[in-house]
Amino acid sequence: MPSLRDLLRRIQAHPALLGDCLLCHQPAQHHPLLCDECNAELPRIVHPCPRCGFPLPETGNNCGACLQHPPGWDRMRVVADYQAPYLQLIHQLKYAGRIECAALLGRLFCEQESESAPSVVLDELPEVLLPVPLHWWRQWRRGYNQAEELARIIGDALQIPVDSHCLRRSRATPPQARLHKQQRKQNLQGAFAIAPRPYRHVALIDDVVTTGATAEQLTRLLRQAGVEVVEVWAICRTLRHPSRD
Ligand SMILES: [Zn+2]
Ligand SMILES: [Zn+2]
Repeated sequence: MPSLRDLLRRIQAHPALLGDCLLCHQPAQHHPLLCDECNAELPRIVHPCPRCGFPLPETGNNCGACLQHPPGWDRMRVVADYQAPYLQLIHQLKYAGRIECAALLGRLFCEQESESAPSVVLDELPEVLLPVPLHWWRQWRRGYNQAEELARIIGDALQIPVDSHCLRRSRATPPQARLHKQQRKQNLQGAFAIAPRPYRHVALIDDVVTTGATAEQLTRLLRQAGVEVVEVWAICRTLRHPSRD
């Protein structure tokens, strides 16, 4: 069984595709769109809480907040907190039409996994990746769903299929970050639909987990549909704990 580290080699880019560093605009030497210096300086969460991704002093148990109020999903894997320079990289992916940023961010996610869990083998990974859906109008305007692009990169590297049709956003909703706790729940009421699938272990894929309310809502739908293990994979999380939303 190949390790994540072996599989990571699959997303090393051809030198002609490296381009300039998105952060300092010097030529990228080894990784697409990121020079070695900026790559080395990227902050990462070294010892995440396995349940919510919150940074802990050492690897091990769930954080205190998760012990008291565990989120609905089983596991969260993230690269870093949602701060510079990830803010800029994700902004490029979502709002500047730089779809190729998905390759860069997907690589960082897979590297993080191979470093924090080098012994993880394929049979412990989810059987399918489910991108968090965008409303069709927003996707049409952007031209793509950034979560789906990330899922494709990560799925290619880890050899996990991507199902972009299992989850659907049935209506547009205002951004969660602008709403209070109660409004957030109401905002997402009936916002998603699920197509029946025989999955047991899945990973939701998103660029950023902010309040966690979207992931909670989707986890609930997946469990109702019979999914036993739900992981949430994202590039970044905000510092706030999901139970405090
Ligand atoms: Zn750079
Ligand atoms: Zn936690």
